Order: sequence, then structure tokens, then C-alpha cells
Amino acid sequence: MRIALVGFGAAAIGFIEKMKSSNNEIHVFEKSKDIYSSSISGMRADGKLFVSSEMGGDMFIEMALQKQFVDYFINHTNNQQIETGKSFYNKEYYKQFYESGFQPITSDFYHIGTDQLKEVLYNIYENFKTFKNIHFHFESEIKEIDFSGDKIKLNNTDVFDKAVIAVGRSGHKLINNIIKTYPKLISDNTKVDLGIRYELPDHIVEELNKEMYEFKVKYKTKTGYVVRTFCNNPSGYVVTENYDDFTTVNGHAKIREKSKNTNFAVLTTVKLTEPFNDPVGYGSHIAKLSNLLAGKNKVILQTYDHFKNSRRTKNLYRVIPTLENDKYILGDINLAFPRRIIESIVDFIDNLNKVIPGVANPDNLVYAPEIKFYSNTLNNDTFETLKFIGDCSGATRSIIYATAHGYLVAEKMV
Ligand SMILES: Cc1cc2nc3c(=O)[nH]c(=O)nc-3n(C[C@H](O)[C@H](O)[C@H](O)COP(=O)(O)OP(=O)(O)OC[C@H]3O[C@@H](n4cnc5c(N)ncnc54)[C@H](O)[C@@H]3O)c2cc1C
Repeated sequence: MRIALVGFGAAAIGFIEKMKSSNNEIHVFEKSKDIYSSSISGMRADGKLFVSSEMGGDMFIEMALQKQFVDYFINHTNNQQIETGKSFYNKEYYKQFYESGFQPITSDFYHIGTDQLKEVLYNIYENFKTFKNIHFHFESEIKEIDFSGDKIKLNNTDVFDKAVIAVGRSGHKLINNIIKTYPKLISDNTKVDLGIRYELPDHIVEELNKEMYEFKVKYKTKTGYVVRTFCNNPSGYVVTENYDDFTTVNGHAKIREKSKNTNFAVLTTVKLTEPFNDPVGYGSHIAKLSNLLAGKNKVILQTYDHFKNSRRTKNLYRVIPTLENDKYILGDINLAFPRRIIESIVDFIDNLNKVIPGVANPDNLVYAPEIKFYSNTLNNDTFETLKFIGDCSGATRSIIYATAHGYLVAEKMV
């Protein structure tokens, strides 16, 4: 069988790993220039790998398979140096959060680091190249996919028996084109995560950072919305992220250079029901409104007290922002965010303060907007010859889940 694999990211790696010893001929089409290209694959920042049944995607993946892929990636580093940790395995912490109404998320955590991730991708590629049935085509962006009889045509030229789409989130243009032609592929598209990036001095969360590095909890707030923490960065930095027509906020941590603050996202999952079908439109309108108030390419920064009481922030007090000062404007996020979202976030932070005193200090910092878009969830049973793996399928949101998804789809095909 001739199979086209579009994209060479985490999901494609899992797919090829299973397929490489089969009789199938695999052609990998990757839009980036080469394996060294900075744009190749979602596997290029940080590389926190998790083994967890509670996060990483909306599908079930055996823990043993997840661990198998963690080991696989670690074994493809040059010297196997990694940081590890366990979230909420300590019963005392678990109980403390649970008794205050939080759902702690348990996971094993392995940190490969940005530099080593590059090595990993390169080493895996070098291994795949040694298999005669695997063919790589770089600088090959796929823009169109057509069915011609029982065959599949890419960009109106190459013909294959099957196509496997593994384009991640950056491949949304191709996915949108496919969905336009085959709308029956969509099985769910109603969710968006809206929220803020929260920044506070390290010492307030020092114990938690030491214990588990990445602390993840969910909480059902008084509004009915579930709010969660995401992407904790001890001694980290807040950054902005520019999309085509709006700017949002994000955070990261470096191995060597450290700040005095910890930042994490506080996100509200908004799930709307029919006839609503445009979560990306909803999220981006809120982002644009925030940018309109802040100025082009800027985000809004406010103290927690003012955020809670809807007052414009004009001065800061003890917490010094790690975001560069030409990237934010002091203001009032309440002018851009719906009330229900603000109330959910405030309820979350005030309750978190009961477990971690100091989290709700009035001069802690709130940046907005932070938005996480979900891909449409696609139904992989729609076509026998066309499959979607990894983040573009809507089923995964992490390196390990995407890789395992690719592997499982290949296993079914084999
Ligand atoms: C900044 C950032 C940090 C992250 N950090 C982590 C982390 O620490 N831990 C974690 O588990 N997850 C992390 N993630 C998420 C993780 O990267 C993804 O969940 C994972 O990479 C998804 O794998 P994928 O194969 O579906 O897509 P990707 O890994 O994104 O691969 C998709 C590939 O398809 C190519 N492509 C796109 N469109 C086309 C096209 N039309 N034609 C040809 N090729 C195309 C892209 O160039 C890319 O190489 C992070 C994501 C981001 C953006």
C-alpha cells in the first residue's frame, strides 16, 4: 500500500515507528525546509512529557504505552539527561487540595528541554531514513486533498491508496479546506479555553514548585464553569504570542536564566451548545477586544485586587512584571471579558488562596487574554482512506498523546 503522511511531528513519529517495518510504502510530506528548520514540528519548545490518564488529550491511551513513548524519546537524546517529577503523588498535598474542592491531576513528569528536543527529532529522523520504505519530502506543503475514485490525490498530482493527516495545529488551513469539502467529518467544535496568565513571587508557591514543578488542578466554580491551571513556570517569564490578527499572553521557563516570579495560566473552559459552532471566532473576538483596549500587539496587565473589583490599574506595587514593559498596558480586563468568566477566575483564585496563602494577594499580577483553541474533533471512521492523527484530529493536545495516537492508527492499518 502507498500511504501519504502529511506533516512530520509527534503524531507522525508514532505512525512511522509502527509502520517502518511493514510492507507499506510511506511518503512523508513536510512543509518545513528540512529537519533542522526552526518551524518543524510542535516538538520544539520545552519538552515536558507527561504520563497521565487525566490530561494530554480526549482519548484513552494505556499508561504503559505512554511510558513506552516517554522512554522512546529519552532514548533518542544524546546523553539521556532529563528532569523528572511526580504531580500529586504526595498524599498530603492531594488531600489538602481535594478537601478544598479541587480536583488534583496526577501525572509523572519528564522534562527533556528545548535543546535536547532538537537532538531527539534529528536522531529519530536519522533512524527512520535507514528504512527503505520511508521517503521524506521536505518543503512540500500540502494544500489540497481529493478523492479520485478509491484513490487519494495530494495537491492534484501524487496518487496514494491512503492519506494520513498529521499537520498539528499549525496545519489548520489544510484541515479547514478538507472540512469545507467534507463537513460530515466534524463531530464536535464547541469548546474554547479563555482566561488569564497569573504571576506572583516564587516564594508563595515555592514548596509546590519544589514538590512537583508543574501543579495542575481543576475546580468547579460557583458559575458552573470548570477552571484549571495550565503550564506552570517556576522562576519563569511571561511572553506575548502574536497570531495573524491578535495578540495573547503565554509563559515559559528557561534552564539557566531565572526570574523571581512564577507564572501559570488560569483557564475557563467555555462549552457552548447548538446552534453555536464558532469557538475560534468567539475566542478571537475577545482577544481582539482586549488588544483594542491595550493597543496593537499589547496585552492588558492588572493587579488581582483591581481585576476582582473592576477598577483600572494605574500603578503596580511589590510584584515586578517579567513581561517587557512595551508589551502591556495597565488597564481593566473587565472591559473585555464576559462577567461569567471573570467571576469564575476570581472564585478559582480565592479558593486556591485557602490552600496556598498569598495566591490572592492584591498586588499579584493578572495578564489577559490567554486563550487556548481546540481543534475541531474529527470523526476518523468517516473515510477508510483518509485518517487524522495527533492534534489536528482534535483528540490530542500533547507530545505523548499525539505520538501514541499515530502509533495506534498505524497499528489498526497494519
Ligand atoms: C509553544 C508550545 C509548547 C509546547 N510544549 C509542550 C510540552 O512541553 N509538552 C507537551 O506534551 N506538549 C507541548 N506542546 C504541544 C505539542 O507540541 C503538541 O501537542 C504535539 O506536537 C502535537 O503533535 P502533532 O504531530 O499533532 O503536531 P506537530 O508536532 O505540530 O506536527 C505537525 C507538523 O506538520 C507540519 N505541517 C503543518 N501543515 C502542513 C501542511 N499543510 N503540509 C505539510 N506539512 C505541514 C508542521 O510543519 C509540523 O512539522 C507545545 C505546543 C506549543 C505550541
